[in-house]
Amino acid sequence: MTVILQIGKLYQSDMNKDQDTKHIIRLLDNEPVGQIVQVVRVIGEGAFRQRLLEMGFVRGAKVTVLKNAPLKDPVEYMIMGSHISLRHSEAAQVEVTDKDAEFCDMEDAFNGIVETTVAGVDPMADNVLRVALIGNPNCGKTSFFNNVTGAKEKVGNYGGVTVDSKEGWFNIGGRKVQLVDLPGTYSLTEYSPEEMYVRTYIRDNHPDAILNIVDAGNLERNLYLTTQIMDMNIPLVIALNMWDELEKSGDKLDVEMMSRLLGAKMVPMTAYNGHGVKEVLEATMAAIDESEQDTLHHNVNYGTLIEDNLSELGKMCPTLDRYTVLKIIENDQHAIDLLNGQDNAELIKKTADEMRQRIERNFNDDIVSIVTDLKYGFVRGALAEALTPNPERITGETKPGYSMDRLLTNRWLALPILLALMWLMFEATFTLGAYPQGWIENGIGWIGEWIGNAMPDGILKDLIVDGIIGGVGGVLVFLPQILILFFFISLLEDSGYMARAAFIVDRIMHRVGLHGKSFIPYLIGFGCGVPAIMATRTLENRRDRIVTILTIPFMSCSARLPAYLLLVAAFFTAKQGLILMSIYLIGILVAALTAIFLSKTILKHDKTQFVMELPPYRKPTARNATIHMWSKGKQYLQKMGTVILAASIIVWALGYFPRHEGQTPQEQIENSYMGMMGKAIEPVVAPLGFNWQMGVSVLTGAAAKEIVVSTMGVLYTGETDANEESSSLKEKLQTATKPNGENVFNSIVAYSFMLFILLYFPCIAALAAIRREAGTKWMIFEIIYTTAVAWIVSFLFYQIAIRF
Ligand code: GDP
Ligand code: MG
Repeated sequence: MTVILQIGKLYQSDMNKDQDTKHIIRLLDNEPVGQIVQVVRVIGEGAFRQRLLEMGFVRGAKVTVLKNAPLKDPVEYMIMGSHISLRHSEAAQVEVTDKDAEFCDMEDAFNGIVETTVAGVDPMADNVLRVALIGNPNCGKTSFFNNVTGAKEKVGNYGGVTVDSKEGWFNIGGRKVQLVDLPGTYSLTEYSPEEMYVRTYIRDNHPDAILNIVDAGNLERNLYLTTQIMDMNIPLVIALNMWDELEKSGDKLDVEMMSRLLGAKMVPMTAYNGHGVKEVLEATMAAIDESEQDTLHHNVNYGTLIEDNLSELGKMCPTLDRYTVLKIIENDQHAIDLLNGQDNAELIKKTADEMRQRIERNFNDDIVSIVTDLKYGFVRGALAEALTPNPERITGETKPGYSMDRLLTNRWLALPILLALMWLMFEATFTLGAYPQGWIENGIGWIGEWIGNAMPDGILKDLIVDGIIGGVGGVLVFLPQILILFFFISLLEDSGYMARAAFIVDRIMHRVGLHGKSFIPYLIGFGCGVPAIMATRTLENRRDRIVTILTIPFMSCSARLPAYLLLVAAFFTAKQGLILMSIYLIGILVAALTAIFLSKTILKHDKTQFVMELPPYRKPTARNATIHMWSKGKQYLQKMGTVILAASIIVWALGYFPRHEGQTPQEQIENSYMGMMGKAIEPVVAPLGFNWQMGVSVLTGAAAKEIVVSTMGVLYTGETDANEESSSLKEKLQTATKPNGENVFNSIVAYSFMLFILLYFPCIAALAAIRREAGTKWMIFEIIYTTAVAWIVSFLFYQIAIRF
């Protein structure tokens, strides 16, 4: 039955002339669910093709078609034990054939390693011992980092949680070592911003050792990155993380042999409970110590032809490492740019061109797939020796916990479940949070009263009671709700559901010209726009990134929540959860319309690609969720201690001065600087149903959205008679009246106000993030655009609603 295939061609082997089995080459896109096929090649060219190759779509790799997304597109495939999502249009780029076809050159791909002598270095030359953590997304780098440094970084179960590097310190054997948690990457080809970041970091900072963390349950794919790191000639230790999962799966790995085959020390580890962490650190220190002497460094052996060319070209550019030399042969622009300024740059380029042509002729393939094939061949060869898969496992079997995927991405149930989960999250935030909120409210009222009684009258007392306690206290009461919201977001991330959400909604996101991956930054945006804007770095396409960045502020962040909670509680008695949710949905709608508008006009986009890994489902741990919740809570408190405190004092002062003798508190505020400002903008906000106090709140809320509430606190509690029984801000708003005796607020005004808060001017911090990620031009665009949209939407709502 053996038929030998060559790239693009199909013919029968001589040995099997009598049998007429043919393996027809087809496109992956047309394969039915449940089918297992073998990759022949990826057609096309460019970055997308490279990404597919690196994700494991190399000749001979087995692919299982797992399922269509609920909206039919994209499709989930399993390759090399991991789950990948591809759109139909992309799967149409992959040629496949029957799973039992045999390829002629699979066996001779493993040539073992070659050794290079690397001169000894003094690791303490710059007084710092530096270890860089490198690995695929989701392999457990951050868990390890937190375990070792005691830091409380956010751990997540989808790509892109870590987009910047984080530095921490640990002590070992009396030495202090800096550990750097780099963003997760599948490769160092500098195709995505993460890859660029990691590559540049290594080149510019020369870490004393690289600690490559790999998922032991998915070695084939994870070790591809390792083959690139090996060529950088930096001391390398490999931590086999998720060892617990490997053991559970019943697979057996001979760690000793694997270390020998790859020529790098490997150590089993389970990062999330700390098993093996100490051994990993010791091995890393040993590798650094060794590097003081000349050492033999181990590299992938690419076979005689390529090796000869590598050493020949290597002699022409002795300052470059083997990785870069190979990249120059591969005609990689980033690597070629490194030659700039070198006298023999032109000669090197010419030589590399000749070499490339010779290699391509010899292998009858293009250089990118040749090198990728060889690297995967090396990894497979080593695994064939050292890994014994559990014989009871069937190929194409999914990871434990995957069975619930059938429900979560079910054709009919997926979207209702997604919406229900979001609703549950917001409803729980609202109702559960109300209890601790009541206690905090009472506590603050009591403190205010106590200080009010204990201190002599005067400016200082007014500042403390009305400015600080009134302002900061009004925001502090929302801490429980914010903690609950982040607790839920953390559970969704950790369990692996976030990536499924992207899978489910990709088709919809595609409609508005975006990628399912944008969904993740959007969801983070419900917490806070700043990390959300940073998380857009996971998007490979710059246009997608900018559209996503500009629309994230419409995802209602948690800082706006206090204002909604206050207004909903005060002016809506029934269906509070639904009212709150409607605000969030309107934000989403405006974001969608904006995205469509942008991608049809200023930011016309080319086809974006949806190669996304779907991480295995994992049981979220209470520890992670708590760490995440706590770090958010801390950020919130810090923001309160600084920005909000300062703003509350400023807002209070603007309302307190200039002092006039013999005025009622009401008149005092009205004639204050703040009152003047509010009055000045009143004509602009009056058509939205706002009075000047609300205008002032909106102005001060530009600094941070929480301040909307604290301003209202100052404005309305400032009106109270000191002897009056203290009542909450909510009651103050309910009873506030206009000069003509009408109520200032009613449900229409409150809703119009909420719409405005939802849509207008993102806070200062978010604008700073937009400027950093997209540039000043887009930041200015954003300021004008959001404020105009807010005004128009509130105007339309208010003017229409009051007529019914
Ligand atoms: P990073 O993306 O490489 O930084 O990975 P994270 O540290 O964020 O971890 C990704 C997921 O893997 C999280 O859900 C962790 O709880 C989980 N995880 C980390 N280490 C282990 C481990 O040793 N065993 C198991 N079973 N899960 C782990
Ligand atoms: Mg991480």
